[in-house]
Amino acid sequence: MSDGRDTSGTRRVSAVGKRERERRGPSRYVDPAEQTDSHARCYPRRWRHRHAHVPSRAGACRSHETPPGSVRSFVIVGSGFAGYTAARDIRRRDKDSRITMVTSDDGSFYSKPALSNLFSIARKNSHFRVTSAAEMERELSLTVLANTAVRAIHPASCVVETEEALLEYSELILAVGASARPLSVRGDAQDSICYVNDLESSIDFKNRLHEGCRITIVGAGLVGCEFANDLAAAGWPVDVVDIAEQPLAAILPPRCGQYVRDRLEAIGVRFHLGRSVDSIERTERGLSIALQGGTVLDAHVVLGATGLLPRVELAKAAGLRVSRAIVVDGHLRTSNGRIYALGDCAEVLGSWRPFISTITMSSRALVAAIFAQVAPVQPMLRMITLKTPTCPVVAVLRDRSGGVAEWTFHEGNEGLQAFVRDSAGRLCEYVLCGSEVTRHPELFRTVEKPSCLP
Ligand SMILES: Cc1cc2nc3c(=O)[nH]c(=O)nc-3n(C[C@H](O)[C@H](O)[C@H](O)COP(=O)(O)OP(=O)(O)OC[C@H]3O[C@@H](n4cnc5c(N)ncnc54)[C@H](O)[C@@H]3O)c2cc1C
Repeated sequence: MSDGRDTSGTRRVSAVGKRERERRGPSRYVDPAEQTDSHARCYPRRWRHRHAHVPSRAGACRSHETPPGSVRSFVIVGSGFAGYTAARDIRRRDKDSRITMVTSDDGSFYSKPALSNLFSIARKNSHFRVTSAAEMERELSLTVLANTAVRAIHPASCVVETEEALLEYSELILAVGASARPLSVRGDAQDSICYVNDLESSIDFKNRLHEGCRITIVGAGLVGCEFANDLAAAGWPVDVVDIAEQPLAAILPPRCGQYVRDRLEAIGVRFHLGRSVDSIERTERGLSIALQGGTVLDAHVVLGATGLLPRVELAKAAGLRVSRAIVVDGHLRTSNGRIYALGDCAEVLGSWRPFISTITMSSRALVAAIFAQVAPVQPMLRMITLKTPTCPVVAVLRDRSGGVAEWTFHEGNEGLQAFVRDSAGRLCEYVLCGSEVTRHPELFRTVEKPSCLP
């Protein structure tokens, strides 16, 4: 049962909790004094999170196998899409495992991609849905330790250390995401640059907008273009700066990027491409943004959207293998057999793809691996949906190891289609722009899955 209720309709969280409490006795939290690990011994004796799942034996983390019949104790670090997707996939397979989620934010669940569409959501009178940590605990029968940062991982003893508690795991899933890449520019206004990477920063950004305000977005990738569309459609004057010659240069073939650019310009977005930002200075009127080559833009708010930096510090300090992100294999396993990484913090089979579809597919492989059904991640098709209502885009792309794809294009009155076919004429990748996105379900059924291609 995945809805957290038993056959009598009672919520499983309380039923399991009661059984577990009876089984364990009053207190079996790892006492720092019992720990052999030197970090753990330094640990303050404050046990606020008495409800967190209980470690069994400190220092017992040696084997990669959980003995048959024993209840697994998952610790998931991070409550973003990756953390909750993993929790949901675990619950689909197993209702008895203990799952404790530790997160430095408030543990609520919401659609992060929708943060770049807040004005269009408001225009449609829809709500931005936020599900509280308490609701998620009930739905998935787990414990959320909110506003609790993990400070260290001790792989030798299978223990995660927070400020408040030591949590022992049988399996640890790192889903710590990535931070916005800070802009490195000259000038005295670095601290005025906004970055939207979670609900709080999105509210902060929205609060800075005021009547008559001009916005400059640095970065014309997915997030930059979605914000440009949302803000311009809501009536704000928007400039977009990028060092690349086309918007969406890292995702789409240039002609598709140009197509999106034309549509966004038609609603008033001004692009400054092939330029980098030299400096941002405070002025009496707001901010002055100097671009390389001499152009100066006036703005009141600057949004930085130049990419992400995977959070690798915890993994690195724990001795896990880290490259651009936390290195994991096709089962999402790190260099330690009991620790997995998923989402924006993970580099799967050498490829770092910070997208929702990557998380959905990887989480299934991770959970299958844990429950001993060996099904490594397959070479993936990435599906990217651009939420630019002025010019919607769906891209279905393959991970390629080198080589340039040969695209063919078909442009009609209402949209643009781009295809990559192999030498036998089979459809391998496609991008649909404008009203052509309606063809996506039909094409997705026929596109060759990468594992089928030579
Ligand atoms: C504005 C915007 C629009 C987007 N649009 C799209 C889109 O259209 N399509 C798409 O595929 N993707 C999109 N993305 C990307 C997508 O949202 C991310 O790939 C995805 O949400 C990442 O989820 P995550 O769980 O890996 O990371 P996050 O959501 O960043 O979650 C990380 C979690 O880890 C916690 N954490 C970090 N460090 C610690 C610590 N030390 N201790 C405890 N907890 C910790 C954080 O509090 C957080 O809960 C968009 C992103 C943004 C910002």
